[in-house]
Amino acid sequence: MSGTAAQGPRLRPTLDGIPTYKPGKPAGADAYKLSSNENPYPPLAGVLEAALAAAGSFNRYPDMAVTALTEELARRFEVPAEHIATGTGSVSVAQSLVLSTAGPGDEVMFAWRSFEAYPIITQVAGATPVAVPLTATEEHDLDAMLAAITDRTRLIFVCNPNNPTGTAIRRTELVRFLDAVPSDILVVLDEAYIEFIRDEQVPNGLELYRDRPNVCVLRTFSKAYGLAGLRVGFAVAHEPVATALRKTAVPFGVSQLAQDAAVASLRAEDELLERVETLVAERARVVAALTAQGWELADTQANFVWLRLGDRALDFAAACGAAGVVVRPFQGDGVRITIGEVAGNDLFLAAAEAFRKEL
Ligand code: PMP
Repeated sequence: MSGTAAQGPRLRPTLDGIPTYKPGKPAGADAYKLSSNENPYPPLAGVLEAALAAAGSFNRYPDMAVTALTEELARRFEVPAEHIATGTGSVSVAQSLVLSTAGPGDEVMFAWRSFEAYPIITQVAGATPVAVPLTATEEHDLDAMLAAITDRTRLIFVCNPNNPTGTAIRRTELVRFLDAVPSDILVVLDEAYIEFIRDEQVPNGLELYRDRPNVCVLRTFSKAYGLAGLRVGFAVAHEPVATALRKTAVPFGVSQLAQDAAVASLRAEDELLERVETLVAERARVVAALTAQGWELADTQANFVWLRLGDRALDFAAACGAAGVVVRPFQGDGVRITIGEVAGNDLFLAAAEAFRKEL
């Protein structure tokens, strides 16, 4: 044996630079959790039943090919089943996308601030993150992103609408961007919040991926469909990207509970999307109230609002916490607040008003 005894296993140095993913704070029993962009509604009866029925067989592995859900998705979105790749939440599909395209020496680009997992999954793959600042209006700076492309760029995440700012890219701008990106770079349209979009000029990525082999769409059941705790998301991508995703996915990652609940959710879509409609109306109410309080807001198309509070982000979150609402601060940047139950939103609005008066 050589070397010092107490050195421990050697870990990859690339992990040193990785920020740890900070999950939304769990809310205490008496607090509203507006920190993780979840759906505040409990599972629909039919969806819960499907999951409970599947629970009776959890001594068995799930269907590794995710057959029923893939077929249901293919029908629902009118895409070939071979173009669909599922995973343990869309974050794991995003990770597979990075692992499929980028390694040491390669670059993965995204706007910043955007979804926190992008820099993490990039560095886990040993690739280099390229974070392009948002514009002053909290939007993707697509021209700056085009200018930041190098011959090492392998993947570009476009988060539409953007988490945490809620801003969405419209069709003309997005098409212009996609047309300008070299066709050997994979562009991932992360549409985790697409069901909340009400701006008709914002495109559905599925329209854009069809005739572009280097474009893929990322979707999740965690937000509008209310299955965050079951962990299921999917990509719609051309082959060979979809095939690569199946190779890099964790085997048996999507539980049978999740698969069956997702199928039931697609069949109960009308009812689920009615709930989304209610959340969108609630969003409008919250935005109007904040505007009346004097806050300047970027247009949000997602199930959250963003307040650019800079160095006051943590203070604001603490004030909300004291009022019984858990929100998501990013110190130095701002605070993201999910649209939740009416009572929780009201507590948040009261806390925001009190905080503003102190400013
Ligand atoms: N993409 C974006 C933009 C998100 O905000 C989130 C959730 N915070 C995800 C992907 C991942 O969601 P999930 O893994 O639950 O599908």
